[in-house]
Amino acid sequence: MSKEENLECSFCGRKKAETDLLIAGMDAHICDKCIEQAHGIVEEEISEVKSGNLNKDLILKKPIEIKDFLDQYIIGQNETKRAMAVAVYNHYKRLLQKNNDDDVEIEKSNIILVGETGTGKTLVARTIAKMLNVPFSIVDATVLTQAGYVGEDVESILSRLLQAADYDVEKAQRGIVFIDEIDKIARKGDNPSITRDVSGEGVQQALLKLLEGAVVNVAPKGGRKHPEQKFIEVNTKDILFIAGGAFSGIDRLISKRLNRQAVGFGASLEDDKIDEENLLQYITPLDLKSFGLIPEIIGRLPVLSYMNPLDANTLRAILTEPKNAIIKQYAKLFSMDKVDFTIDEQALNYIVEKAVEYKLGARGLRSLCEAIFTDAMFDLPSSDEKEFNVTKEYAEAKLSNSTLKKLRAAS
Ligand code: ADP
Repeated sequence: MSKEENLECSFCGRKKAETDLLIAGMDAHICDKCIEQAHGIVEEEISEVKSGNLNKDLILKKPIEIKDFLDQYIIGQNETKRAMAVAVYNHYKRLLQKNNDDDVEIEKSNIILVGETGTGKTLVARTIAKMLNVPFSIVDATVLTQAGYVGEDVESILSRLLQAADYDVEKAQRGIVFIDEIDKIARKGDNPSITRDVSGEGVQQALLKLLEGAVVNVAPKGGRKHPEQKFIEVNTKDILFIAGGAFSGIDRLISKRLNRQAVGFGASLEDDKIDEENLLQYITPLDLKSFGLIPEIIGRLPVLSYMNPLDANTLRAILTEPKNAIIKQYAKLFSMDKVDFTIDEQALNYIVEKAVEYKLGARGLRSLCEAIFTDAMFDLPSSDEKEFNVTKEYAEAKLSNSTLKKLRAAS
């Protein structure tokens, strides 16, 4: 036998002829099979370390700390921030106790947020995901239909999450999904209609499976990494679902229930004054049922919270206070062109005033700022001007009535 053929893998002892590849080191050799095995071990170790880190992080974040984090990005909405902090803390506690073998199984604390559009529902969910460093995806419930009908199957929710997790199934399985406009899949009316309720109750039933926790075959839509793989199995039991909706008209249902209760218990309304301006604060699962969510879905979204409407003071704070407040973002954009950007208090108040007057909400603040600052963002990079101070007069001049009307139409 030649010397070459005598070589063997120093790890498994296979002869060179039995391997596809034998790599030489200083005084040892390793074969392709051992490399593969070692690679597997390394991957496993790394992922264990990673999940270990995740667990460590989670233990560190107590509800108060979660709320502190949310406070940096979200103005007001304290009830929701507290409810979310507790729900998220419990959710991840549930993940950590998985290895305990006692009979007490903590159920998932999926969340449902009720509040007008633009009050920060998505922002809260997104901020939680950012804090936990878990994949996050948003789906619009209105595009979902029952399997077999035109539209998207509920499983598409998970393909988006997989995408957000860069096709790391383990990571996706700890992710957060925000289901927007959940109110739009409410059952229409109390009578099951004669025609099939394709986008209502049927979708709720399909969603139920995901919320409860199930192993679902997901088509990795747009998945470059798995062209050969038809389906990826995703277990939803540890995915946190946050649903949000405006539930417009639910205030009437709440009011009706409150009045009925007041009569029923013989309590006088004067004892317990109801804040008619913000009835959402009294919301209970019962109201969601009256609105048309099926009881099973409500049961799977046990944490119910509400968003307060944004008043002028809140809008004013949103402009400048959050960590990535809109005004801070513009200041940063200008500073990249070495322009010192400042804005007068009166100009800020004017922006808020217009947002309120034209009912543009928090989202409108950004459009208003765009309309006011666009000319400057166009001109200043090519000019020698190094200062840009926005006065109320400047803002007024840039915001014509036609622009405002356009913004209102678009909102
Ligand atoms: P929703 O999901 O309730 O329709 P969003 O979360 O999409 O509302 O809010 C729209 C935008 O308005 C956010 O991106 C954010 O810039 C701003 N915003 C709304 N509410 C708040 C808030 N309470 N604090 C800070 N920013 C807010």
